[in-house]
Amino acid sequence: MQVSDHPDYRRTVETSSTTPDLTPDRATGLTPEQKRAAHAAANPDLSERLDAMAWHCTQEAGTEQAFTGIYWDEKRAGTYRCASCDATLFDSDDKFDSGCGWPSFTAPTHDRPTGEDVVDARTDSSHGMVRVETTCSACGAHLGHVFPDGPEPTGDRYCINSACIILEER
Ligand SMILES: [Zn+2]
Repeated sequence: MQVSDHPDYRRTVETSSTTPDLTPDRATGLTPEQKRAAHAAANPDLSERLDAMAWHCTQEAGTEQAFTGIYWDEKRAGTYRCASCDATLFDSDDKFDSGCGWPSFTAPTHDRPTGEDVVDARTDSSHGMVRVETTCSACGAHLGHVFPDGPEPTGDRYCINSACIILEER
């Protein structure tokens, strides 16, 4: 689904709920947690390939500190791949300087030939806020969140942990 269609996309209501939203992906019927479990089972070396921060962010829905990741100020051209499964997720053409301390994109990559979403979105009610969490649609890795305060043309700000992506320069 398009993020702009997400029912909680425009919500800024604060909530005290900490119950995770386990709404499954419409396309596969799988939650990100189920995708992560399947991916980890099929890739037993995953915990060795990912460093501690990458594991925390992608597998435990963690967040790196602002301005600490390696890509928040990255300007090189290239493709950003999923640190967990190598899927193509973002392109430097869509990257912009948001000033928030995390790499920010106006949209996921448009390169995927199937037309399927490369990034899934769902409601995240943790930490006393209602946000829209983004995950890799292929492996379920947590990536970050998407906010409705990005620049044109999409108006979206995909706020992504550096630890969850790997730049492949071109
Ligand atoms: Zn992935």
